Amino acid sequence: MKVIQEMNRYGHEQIVFVQDKSVGLKAIIAVHSTVLGPALGGTRFWNYASEEDALFDVLRLSRGMTLKNAAAGLKLGGGKAVIIGDPQQLKSRVFFHAYGKYINSLGGKYYTAEDVNTSATDISQISEVTKYVSGIPETSGNPSPFTARGVFMAMQAGASVKFGSDSLAGKTVAIQGIGSVGYELCSRLAKVGAKLKVYDINPVVVEKAVTEFDAIAVTADEILTTDCDIFSPCAMGALLNTGNVGSLKCKMVAGAANNVLLDAETGDKLDTLGILYLPDYIVNAGGVINCGMEIPDGKYDVDLVNAQVDKIYDTTLKIINLAQTKNVSTYRAADDYAFGIVESAR
Ligand code: NAD
Repeated sequence: MKVIQEMNRYGHEQIVFVQDKSVGLKAIIAVHSTVLGPALGGTRFWNYASEEDALFDVLRLSRGMTLKNAAAGLKLGGGKAVIIGDPQQLKSRVFFHAYGKYINSLGGKYYTAEDVNTSATDISQISEVTKYVSGIPETSGNPSPFTARGVFMAMQAGASVKFGSDSLAGKTVAIQGIGSVGYELCSRLAKVGAKLKVYDINPVVVEKAVTEFDAIAVTADEILTTDCDIFSPCAMGALLNTGNVGSLKCKMVAGAANNVLLDAETGDKLDTLGILYLPDYIVNAGGVINCGMEIPDGKYDVDLVNAQVDKIYDTTLKIINLAQTKNVSTYRAADDYAFGIVESAR
């Protein structure tokens, strides 16, 4: 892969390749943009099949963080890091200290946080050698309840447009993935009288949702094709593509999963099908709003966080209106909106 060419394509400011043989550390830190402020984005720990895969992932994810942070109204840029290797074998305090020193060497240009396979404990260990970390348990902690709160707000905003009222009472919501965010979301929806259909590869969490929220359990295939008002993907990314969105029987898609649409064409097709898509990074920004609150001075106020997360309602409406005005899909409208914020600041 031609690295500079790829940086050019995505518009990155800096890519840092990291190696510490003594602990088996191999990582890539990608700073996509610091136009709005220091770049914030988590560290993903993954046993990538190749270094090219790792580079591709970090370039794409860090660009996504620029858009998410900008659209959420944060004075933060976008970045991300990937550690390459098997987390089970490599994780240790000295390993994360070695990694943290590289983050420190960037002098605050990049702040890290939790992501796939990095836990609160790992982040705490990194914070022993650098202050450029957010989401440590002593301050903002677990982002998932805030993410679920934001998804719920976005659903209400979408419902006001699609169903003429932002009440979710009596609406059927099909949720794929009952993990940290999915479970909190189920709880919020059940409280307001929504009907739930659920699927997770882990039958234990499905059973919990059935027992606690009176949810109906469906199969892996059914969750994508079941009759519902809202489909809420809260598991993996790249789930929906132009080949499978035609099978959806919902009127709206709104979930926490990052990069849930394979590409912009999928967003266009949802639009053509009359399914309102609420863009992932607008909807799921609650978590980053929560940990972004600590930057740069470590101060944290949960009331301010909740107020900022609740603004996802207005941002969602803004994106829907923009899409209607420009006659483009909400997917494209969100990108225009977020890049517009960065470009005006530049
Ligand atoms: P999690 O790991 O706690 O939960 C994910 C759940 O999805 C698990 O219960 C898992 O069993 C299930 N799952 C995995 N593959 C599945 C499949 N094919 N079908 C059905 N279920 C499947 O993760 P989370 O923190 O709840 O995050 C959920 C999604 O939201 C992820 O895509 C994550 O990147 C995104 N997200 C999370 C946050 C946050 O604050 N946690 C913030 C922004 C975005």
